[in-house]
Amino acid sequence: MNFMKHFYNMKLGIVDLAESSVEIVPLDAEIIAEKIGGAAVNTELFENYGDDGSLILGIGPLTGSYAPASCLLVATFRSPVTGSLSHVPFLHRSGPEMKFSGFDFLVIKEVAPRPTVLNITEGTVTFIAADHMVKREVPEIIRSIKQKVHHVRAAIVTGPAADNGSPFASVSTGLWGSLDKTGLASVLGTKNVKGLVFNGIDGLPFGVDDLARSDKMIKTCGLYGPSRGNGFISVLEKIGVDDDVKTMLYKSEAKNIACYRCPYPCMNYVEFTEKASECMRGNPLQRGLNLMDHVGFLTLAGKYKGEVFELMSSCIRLGVDPVVVSVMLPDGGTMNDRLEMIKVISAGSIEGGLNVEERKGYPTFGGIPPEKHKLFGGGLAPIVNQETEDHMSVWQNRVALSLVLGVCPLFLSLFPAIQEADLISFFVQEKVALKLFQDRVNSSVRLLCGH
Ligand code: SF4
Repeated sequence: MNFMKHFYNMKLGIVDLAESSVEIVPLDAEIIAEKIGGAAVNTELFENYGDDGSLILGIGPLTGSYAPASCLLVATFRSPVTGSLSHVPFLHRSGPEMKFSGFDFLVIKEVAPRPTVLNITEGTVTFIAADHMVKREVPEIIRSIKQKVHHVRAAIVTGPAADNGSPFASVSTGLWGSLDKTGLASVLGTKNVKGLVFNGIDGLPFGVDDLARSDKMIKTCGLYGPSRGNGFISVLEKIGVDDDVKTMLYKSEAKNIACYRCPYPCMNYVEFTEKASECMRGNPLQRGLNLMDHVGFLTLAGKYKGEVFELMSSCIRLGVDPVVVSVMLPDGGTMNDRLEMIKVISAGSIEGGLNVEERKGYPTFGGIPPEKHKLFGGGLAPIVNQETEDHMSVWQNRVALSLVLGVCPLFLSLFPAIQEADLISFFVQEKVALKLFQDRVNSSVRLLCGH
């Protein structure tokens, strides 16, 4: 594979929502040569092409490649919560599907005249009217999209909370929720965008040594054979989870699920009995729930233990940030009171709720200051070694590295043995060139971290 040819031939789409148009332009090779990819290139595009309300989607040079956990897509926008640029990571299949849909970067400008879903496939963007999806719950929106678009391989959608202008809205990656705790859903809401759908039918050529390179890295992490962790619990354990919550997850017979090319499944599908329906109709309902938001789950579970599955499910369906919900729900009352309250939060009609200043102040796991955490969307489990004095900057650099290269930030935080040179060697092997790229990657990482 001629990776350098691919590297310098990246495709940028400029979407004008007001005009329902997309212009496809070759990406300035100098931007890529200097910034390398992902959030660093997104930032450059935000400054060069966007206005202050623009949304930039981008991938890294490793996204969709043979590198482990190469699933990343990153969304860059000015956060209504922090007032600064925020880079929200998307995992699962989002990044490869955008790449295989024919785009490396998308700049999304202006406001659509009506609710719209952007269908991204075969190197173009089409605009689907989505009036009927407004104020519908996320599962219904996904069903509705599937009636219009065949083979939805990845979808990012907003729920009723964004339609209602709730400042606590959070987007959902399919039915999985997301790591958006800095207002991406609100930005999409103000742009009249109900969702983005990727249908990647293309692929990437792999280098002859890529498989061996990938296997070596997986072995370095000790991830061969049975030692593939404990699913969702593996990450919860790194940020502090009590035994009751772990037992509950074990009892739910959770199925471990991994993102694209990830050897360490840290997401779960669980089944639970909906207690509210039991009370109301005497007819218990079995529901399935996808878990990928470790921080959201843990904050809800810390307060509501056995009710966490039902509350989490409600947050995902209504498109609300579960961390906000855990802070705002009162301690007393019944499960039905809490579910009603989540509806009120998603309706944007909370009086005297959290103000923006309060919202800036959480979550505070792992000693990471909230403003640093929110630079990367505020939803990443901060996996740090507290015994290391500079654990905060180690975490930040590691996340920024993943957001430049296009791999999962959780994976890189979980496995510090993976060296950046190992990752860069997927696209350049010659010693001098590798050193040059390493310097440029480091400079992009420093830029993102603000130092
Ligand atoms: S570590 Fe978890 S979130 Fe990251 S790629 Fe693997 S399964 Fe996905």
